[in-house]
Amino acid sequence: MSKTVAFIGLGNMGGGMAANLVKAGFEVNAFDLMEANLNAAKEAGCTAVDCAKKAVDGADYVVSMLPNGAIVESVYIDGDALLEAIPKQALVLDCSTIAPDNSRRVGAAAEKLGVQFVDAPVSGGVAAAAAGTLAFMVGGTQANFEASKPILEAMGANIFRAGDVGAGQVAKICNNMLLAIHMSGTAEALQLGIDNGLDPKALSDIMLKSSGCNWSLEKYNPVPGVMEGVPSSNGYQGGFMVDLMLKDLGLAQEAANGSKSSIPMGSAARNLFNLHKNSDGEDKGGRDFSSIQQLFSRD
Ligand code: NAD
Repeated sequence: MSKTVAFIGLGNMGGGMAANLVKAGFEVNAFDLMEANLNAAKEAGCTAVDCAKKAVDGADYVVSMLPNGAIVESVYIDGDALLEAIPKQALVLDCSTIAPDNSRRVGAAAEKLGVQFVDAPVSGGVAAAAAGTLAFMVGGTQANFEASKPILEAMGANIFRAGDVGAGQVAKICNNMLLAIHMSGTAEALQLGIDNGLDPKALSDIMLKSSGCNWSLEKYNPVPGVMEGVPSSNGYQGGFMVDLMLKDLGLAQEAANGSKSSIPMGSAARNLFNLHKNSDGEDKGGRDFSSIQQLFSRD
């Protein structure tokens, strides 16, 4: 008999993820506050229900993909108190990007009720969610990590255990802080070359084979026209929004405050993305994050 998944939060990411669970043969009971997203899930083969509690009724797994930590805590603990309605044998996988402490609080509340919990934030954007090629960074016991694999393998291509509950979020925060740093560094270096008469394609080719090579240069060149099929060559539309990068850099700062770590490069990147978002009196939060190039090019 096919296993039942309750899916809560069917937005840009969750919609594609739930559709891939259906394709893999799971029965998916879907809930979202937005009717349009619920309808899209229905078209993808999910059963749409009108409240979160109905979605978890009889579920083997619960997957959530929600905007932030306050909402995740409210869904599971305070507001909907969903943990109390989840069957005891079920495994909860929260894939939202939230603070490690949010995950640990939900994990501890789940443990008290005898419900299994892992945090499983993702790397990869909307396209990877739709294609089922996300990377998952899991925080939880080894046993729960093993139990989460059938679900995660239906939605992703790379699955890692980072440590205990909360560790998935720490890994995600570290990764995205580094991404923000090398993307802004790459944009800065490319603009210095352009301002000194270099063709950005020629400079990119040189750096790709030199010690400045990095993921942003290899896969996501921020200068329009250098690379095909990336947001910079599409008016910085699609991809990973500046606002989401700022959210992740805020989580990095919060984590660093808690652990008393120094993150001068992460703080600088956060300032740069904030400056970019608010420059020229126009909110650029909806543009792809590689649009940080525009801060340097002054376009
Ligand atoms: P989104 O805003 O498109 O989707 C969130 C969905 O949650 C919405 O459909 C909203 O209606 C629903 N929702 C909000 N409160 C709810 C509640 N109480 N009950 C049920 N549904 C509720 O956001 P998204 O882009 O899909 O991102 C989701 C998560 O994934 C975020 O934590 C984000 O940081 C993370 N993430 C996003 C990307 C990306 O590229 N978009 C990449 C990696 C990680």
